[in-house]
Amino acid sequence: MAPVQERSRCFNFSAGPAMLPDLVLDKIVGELGDYDGLGMSILEMGHRDAGGPVQEVLQEATDCVRHILGVPSNYAVIWQQGGAHGQFAAVPLNLLRDKTQADYVDTGVWSRRAMNEARKFCTVRVCAELREEGGRLEVPPVSEWNLSDESAYVHICGNDTISGVEFLEDLDLGDRLLVADFTSTLLSRPVNISRYAALYCSAGKNLGPAGVCLVVVRRDLLDFALPQTPMVLHWKAAAETSPIPSLANTPPVFSIFACGHVLKGLRRSFGDVGTLDNVKRRTQRRASAVYKIIDESNGFYINKVASAVRSQTTICFTFGRDATVQRQWTGSITDTVKPTDLEEAFGGIRICLYNGLPDEAVDEVLRLLRDFAVAESGGLEKICNCKVITCLDTCSRSIKAIKEEHPTASPTRSCLEHNLRPMPVL
Ligand code: PMP
Repeated sequence: MAPVQERSRCFNFSAGPAMLPDLVLDKIVGELGDYDGLGMSILEMGHRDAGGPVQEVLQEATDCVRHILGVPSNYAVIWQQGGAHGQFAAVPLNLLRDKTQADYVDTGVWSRRAMNEARKFCTVRVCAELREEGGRLEVPPVSEWNLSDESAYVHICGNDTISGVEFLEDLDLGDRLLVADFTSTLLSRPVNISRYAALYCSAGKNLGPAGVCLVVVRRDLLDFALPQTPMVLHWKAAAETSPIPSLANTPPVFSIFACGHVLKGLRRSFGDVGTLDNVKRRTQRRASAVYKIIDESNGFYINKVASAVRSQTTICFTFGRDATVQRQWTGSITDTVKPTDLEEAFGGIRICLYNGLPDEAVDEVLRLLRDFAVAESGGLEKICNCKVITCLDTCSRSIKAIKEEHPTASPTRSCLEHNLRPMPVL
């Protein structure tokens, strides 16, 4: 097969599985057939071979997680199956201890999924929820959360993808046990692990291909699993296998092998020191470029999430005009840009900017957003009014595109740039 970089590549803005970087895909494909010249694929090798290739791959991926995230030594790093849904159950099973209730923050669909699973094992209290204040969606500050001393832990969803609401900072809940679903936010910014009792991240977004869930848990909390906890969700059972963790049952070798390559790729691309600081800078730059277009579109695109909790990875918006515009958006998606998500649960569009997405893909979607707003605004006069086009580079590009499309038009740079004079209507 030709290297990925030589094939035409489709940009995938969906909520996951997300794109993997080309170089990472090539490394995976290159190593898969014959691992390390041994005449066998890693997929055919046994995980019980002490110190053998599978254990080596597992250990390397785990070490990479520890290095990149700066996981303190009093935390265990384990890989389990069952995705985040498995952990929705694992969290109460492992952390309820002698309590019978837990506090959950409701920021959207994924918080509620976690709650629904937890309800099978304990009483779930909603201690805080997303609220609309002055037309903005916001999460109340921790000081306003209705936390209970009787609750075993407090659960948040780090990035609730369907509402596009993300905790951009690590919360400080003092002695309370904070547990986070980091499925859609891990590896987008540095994390102060010590603030958490446990966090989990189902692969399929920044971490690598689906099939495995990474769990980071404080070691002193490993002793409390309820007796009925299934072995495959038992954190201590996974943390204490020998000679390395995560061998309680046959691990999903391919997923962990691929996650290892993603993690090594991050270190290569973003540096070995401060990897996630560098990733965060890129994440923020890309997200703010999209939000800028949304915010400056004069209500053509609408995102109501308050800036303090605006997702940097899953950007949701609706259209200020009638619903047909949304259908036309879907029709305007080209073969190289697909799919931005038409998310029924949310009723709008979602653009996901996971790490594997190259910058040129983001440029493509920015162009799509601008062009679509321009086309749907019904004439060049409206282009000016909707302030969609702001930067110089875009102006020249758009002027060229407009001239090609409408040879009789005479758009001017200052008009597009400064939104000063109305454009001639065609
Ligand atoms: N939590 C979040 C924030 C998610 O985005 C998703 C997947 N889209 C899940 C949980 C569910 O993950 P899984 O399907 O691996 O259980």
